[in-house]
Amino acid sequence: MNRRTFLGAVGSAASLGAFAYTRRDRSTVDTLAVRVWRSERAARYDGVRDRVREYLERFLDLPYWSLELSFGGTVAVAHEDGARVTTRGEWPLTLAGGLAGASDLEPAADVNLLVTDGGMVDAPTGYGLPHVASVGGARHLAALEPIDELPATVPDAEDENPDVPIDHPIVPLTTPTRTMQVLLHEVGHALGLDHDHGVVFRSGETVVATPMLSTYAFSSSYDGDRSACKTAYPETTGRDRAITLSFSGCARRRLETYAGDVRP
Ligand SMILES: [Zn+2]
Repeated sequence: MNRRTFLGAVGSAASLGAFAYTRRDRSTVDTLAVRVWRSERAARYDGVRDRVREYLERFLDLPYWSLELSFGGTVAVAHEDGARVTTRGEWPLTLAGGLAGASDLEPAADVNLLVTDGGMVDAPTGYGLPHVASVGGARHLAALEPIDELPATVPDAEDENPDVPIDHPIVPLTTPTRTMQVLLHEVGHALGLDHDHGVVFRSGETVVATPMLSTYAFSSSYDGDRSACKTAYPETTGRDRAITLSFSGCARRRLETYAGDVRP
């Protein structure tokens, strides 16, 4: 389903605008409150919480805010599918119920992420709405290396593209790294980012996609050819592929303006 169609149909019905009121007087945020829940099946895999904590602390604790990361425990869900649990309304309505005091679940002001045991083969594998995100792949997150053991290379410095996250590493494209990138992608949507805040860039003979563009960078059906910051995407066909878990410069500049109020 088209994102905007969904937002019109269901997003407003879940009263998600209530999240915005906690921060409406502020021009930007000093702290970014992110809370992560797991479905009961996702909670069976050891290591999910540790990996999510390590990677969010590395890639979402940006210079202009301090990350307040917390875990909200397990949630019983009817859908393990990481996208449908949100697009069919279940996760947004669970959060809305928590906001209204109908359950013990306490939403966070900025991002509320649910990790499920959904598959990571058939897209979409996750979904993000203002303040609400979900992703499948708990077993793959559990299989991801601890962050200090992740094989990584530094981008080729001769690339002068200002949107390339020069200071952060390129990682191999595997199912566990891709799952973490989709997690970051959906968190980015929850904070108001769109796909064109991502970039794909060349590092030597490899093409590297940042979280918001993700593997759309390698899909012939994606029709964007430049970022929201006007950086042209290189041809990706026939080249080696890799990803970065760092948000692009374009995404970071947009996040810096985040003031707690995300509108579709
Ligand atoms: Zn997306």
